[in-house]
Amino acid sequence: MLKLYRFLKPYTAMIIGVFIFVTLQTLGDLYLPTLMGEIINKGVMQGDTKKILEIGGLMLLVAGIGVVCSVIASLLSAKVATGLGTILRSNIFKRVESYSLNEFDKFGTATLITRTTNDVTQIQTVTIMIMRLMISAPITAVGGMILAYRKDRALTIVLVVAIPVLAGVVALIASRMIPLFKLVQIKIDKINLVLREKLTGVRVIRAFNTDEHERKRFNDANVDLTENYIKVNRIMAFMMPSIMLIMNLTSLSILWFGGIRISKGSMDLGALSAFTQYAMQIMISMLMLSMMFIMVPRAQAAASRINEVLDTMPEIVDAEKTNNSFSGKGYVEFKDVTFSYHGAEEPALKNISFVAKPGEVTAIIGSTGSGKSTLINLIPRFYDVDSGSVLIDGVDVREIPQEVLRKKIGLVPQKSVLFSGTILENIRFGNEDASKEEIRHAAEVAQALEFIENMDGGFEHEISEGGTNVSGGQKQRLSIARAIVRKPEIYIFDESFSALDFKTDAKLRAALKKETADSTVIIVAQRVSTIMDADRIIVLDEGRIVGMGTHKELMKECDVYREIVFSQLSEEEIA
Ligand code: ADP
Ligand code: MG
Repeated sequence: MLKLYRFLKPYTAMIIGVFIFVTLQTLGDLYLPTLMGEIINKGVMQGDTKKILEIGGLMLLVAGIGVVCSVIASLLSAKVATGLGTILRSNIFKRVESYSLNEFDKFGTATLITRTTNDVTQIQTVTIMIMRLMISAPITAVGGMILAYRKDRALTIVLVVAIPVLAGVVALIASRMIPLFKLVQIKIDKINLVLREKLTGVRVIRAFNTDEHERKRFNDANVDLTENYIKVNRIMAFMMPSIMLIMNLTSLSILWFGGIRISKGSMDLGALSAFTQYAMQIMISMLMLSMMFIMVPRAQAAASRINEVLDTMPEIVDAEKTNNSFSGKGYVEFKDVTFSYHGAEEPALKNISFVAKPGEVTAIIGSTGSGKSTLINLIPRFYDVDSGSVLIDGVDVREIPQEVLRKKIGLVPQKSVLFSGTILENIRFGNEDASKEEIRHAAEVAQALEFIENMDGGFEHEISEGGTNVSGGQKQRLSIARAIVRKPEIYIFDESFSALDFKTDAKLRAALKKETADSTVIIVAQRVSTIMDADRIIVLDEGRIVGMGTHKELMKECDVYREIVFSQLSEEEIA
C-alpha cells in the first residue's frame, strides 16, 4: 500500500494540515478529564460556583476548539482520500488502455473492473482512517497513560492488567477476521464475472432456457459471499460485547479500588474522575488502533491487486527507434511468420508468407479455427509474431509507432462492436474529421444508407450500449462504414459480410470496389461467392497456407479449396 502512497505527493500540504488539526483535537481531548477533576475538587467540593463556571467555561472552549479542529481534519482527510482515489482510477485506466490484447487475455475484464472501482474505494476508506488514527491513537494512548499515572500511581496497576487482556482479545479476533476479509475481495470478483456474463449473454441465456442454470450460478456466488460476510459479522458480534465487558470491568475495578483509596484519604474525588476517563480514552484509542490493523490488511489486498495492474507493462510498445522510411502505400507482406498465443501448445500460425498489394483484393478462406482472424490481428500489431516479420510498406510493424500503423488500417473486426451514441458518432469513430457528406457517402457504400434513413432520427438515431438495437447485418454495415470513412491504405474485413444476404453482399462489394480502387483490401470470408473474383486467394488450414492463387488456379491445384467450393456451390455455378 505504501507503494500507492507515492501518488499522494501533490497532497503533502493537506496531509500535514490533517496531522496538525488531529493533534490539536487530541491534545484538547486529553486536557478535558484534568479540567473535570479540577471542577470537582476546586468547585463542587468547595461549593464555589464561580470556580465551576470559570473552569466549565474553559472546558467548553477547549471542547469547542476540538470540534472545529475535528471538522477541518475530516474535511481535509476526505479531500486527500478522494483525490487519491481519482488519481488511482485514472492511472489504472491509462495503464489498461495501453495494454495489448495479451494483457486482456491474462487479467479478464471482470477483475479489471473491480480493481478500478471496489479496490480503489477500499484504499480510499482506509486512507481516511489511517490519516486520522495514525496520530491521534498513539498520542491518546501514551498521553493518557502518563496523565493517568500522574493522577494516581497505585490505580495504574488496574490498567497494567486490563490493557494486555484487551489487546489479547482483539489480537485473537483480528487474526480470525483478516483472512476472511481477504476472501471477500476474491468473491466479489466472482460475482462480477457471473453478473457480467449474464448481462452480456442475456439473449443466449433466454434462448437456451438456461436462466435456471445462470440463476443458480449467480446464487452460488452470492451465497458464498454472504456466508463470508456472515462469518465476519459473527466474529464482530462477539467482539463488541467482549470488549464492552472488559472496559466495564476496568471501570468497575477503578471505582472499587479508587473508592477504597479515597476512604483512606490517599486520593481525591477529582483525581478518580479524571483517572476513570483516561482509562476509557486509552482503551478506546487502542480499539481504534486495532480496527486499523484489521482494515489495513484488507486494503493491502486491494493495493496489491491495483499494483499488479499498474506494474503490468504492455507487451506491445512502440520501439525506441522507429522507422518511417515507408516505400509505397498499403503494401502488406508476411515473411515466414509463426505465431502462438500465450499458453497454447501449438502455434496458431506457421510459416506464413504472402504479399498483398495496393489495388488488389487478397482473400483468405479456411475452416473455423484455421487462424484467419489470428493472421489479420498481426497486421495492426495486436499481437507480436514469434518469428518472421510482418512488413507494411517495407517496414516491420514493430518499428512503426502504433498510432501511425493503425492510421493506415481500416479494420472491420469479426465481432462488430458499436458504442452507445448516435449512428453518426459511431461512424465518425473511424475518422474524427469526417464531414457529414463523407459519413453519408461511407454509409451509402456500406449499403447502410437505406436502413439508416428509415430509422427515426436517421443519422441521429441512438445506438444502445453494445449495439443491441440494430440487427447483426446492420451492425456489420455500420462497422464497414466506420472503416470506409477512415480512407485507410489497407482495408481488412474479417468475415464482415457473413450476416448479409447474397444480394446486399454483392452490391456492397461492387460499391466497395470503386471506393478501394487504390487501396489494399484483405477479405476474410467463409463464402466462396464473396471471394471468388479476388486477385489472390489464400487458403488456410490449421495455421498453414495450403494454397495460394486465383479461383481458377486453386480449383486445379488445391484440394482443400476444392472441398470448400464443392460444399457451397452447385455444378453450374462453378462452371
Ligand atoms: P478463425 O478466425 O480462422 O476462425 P482464429 O484465428 O480465431 O480462427 O483462431 C485460430 C486458433 O487460435 C484457434 O484454435 C483458437 O482456439 C485460437 N485462439 C484464438 N484466439 C485466441 C486467444 N485470444 N488466446 C488463445 N488462443 C486463441
Ligand atoms: Mg475468425
